[in-house]
Amino acid sequence: MKQSVAAWVRPEILAIGAYHVADATGYIKLDAMENPYRLPDSLAAELGRRLAEVAINRYPDPSGAGLKDELKRAFGIPDSAAVLLGNGSDEIITLISQAVARPGASVVAPEPSFVMYRMNALFSGLDYVGVPLKADFSLDLPAMLAAIAEHRPAVVYLAYPNNPTGNRFARSDVEAILDAAPGLVVIDEAYQAFADDSFMSLAGSVDKLLVMRTLSKLGLAGIRLGYAAGSAAWIAELDKLRPPYNVNVLTLAAARFALEQRAVFDGQAETLRSERAKLADALAGFAGVTVFPSEANFVTARVPDAPALFDALKQRKILIKTLHGSHPLLAHCLRFTVGTPDENSAVLAVLNDYFGL
Ligand code: PMP
Repeated sequence: MKQSVAAWVRPEILAIGAYHVADATGYIKLDAMENPYRLPDSLAAELGRRLAEVAINRYPDPSGAGLKDELKRAFGIPDSAAVLLGNGSDEIITLISQAVARPGASVVAPEPSFVMYRMNALFSGLDYVGVPLKADFSLDLPAMLAAIAEHRPAVVYLAYPNNPTGNRFARSDVEAILDAAPGLVVIDEAYQAFADDSFMSLAGSVDKLLVMRTLSKLGLAGIRLGYAAGSAAWIAELDKLRPPYNVNVLTLAAARFALEQRAVFDGQAETLRSERAKLADALAGFAGVTVFPSEANFVTARVPDAPALFDALKQRKILIKTLHGSHPLLAHCLRFTVGTPDENSAVLAVLNDYFGL
């Protein structure tokens, strides 16, 4: 006999769709802020040898201590900070939400921003308060401070730089929010490799601050490794919620290998920064296109007709992300992940045709 799932699953879960990932087979894939470069062959072979040495019959070291120390050294995490590892920073957002969820507790974040802040609030039964950004995608500081005063949120999320808009908020606005927030403030620095500022130096000394990062955008999206640095008190509580073996042995080994090869990834990030500048300049040259400043590995632009341009690119086997329809502030906006020089040229060739140049 068929059971009615709907009788048991929470209505707010029944009401949503699963996280959708477009099928990119056969496309130039510029929709998900990945690093377009594969590992160079010689390094891939060396990684293969390293992974072959890993004891996959054993559970991973649940503390990930070795990797934490290496992350601290590599990314300037202060000695006073404690570190938490996650299966991507997505998982860290889940753990934070689980830690604070109780009736009446809330989360505040600017909108539009990374959707998983809102989704995880919903999964955990937290009230979610989205505060619209200004039209230029800067923070509406008075509105943020008013929301914080009214809701006294358990968590405030700030993506620095922000996804999907690409800009980095004014540091002084973030500092004012950090001062005012009664609970945890998560500064999500997923795009730090492409940005000109960071709050990492405060991790461990400002008790309510958690700085979250990921190896995904650096070129390791497939291994799923995120981390957060903050006060020992917060990290200890989040650690209780962490599934004991959340970061698997292959990921631990691959991440350690990647940190040894840091120069390769830094070089790619450097190339992507200069490609971003070229792509942004070229996009701004088309009639009616507004390019928003980006400190991430993508460029968001408003175009005259986003669905039509998205389709024109898709027909030429290029997949980007349309933001049109996802939020009122993102009308006719498209998000272009920065690709290799050849991939970016392919994008611009389609735009040249499309704009009749
Ligand atoms: N934070 C932001 C702002 C993001 O844009 C993303 C990925 N799109 C993430 C976190 C999640 O990254 P991951 O789970 O791959 O570490």
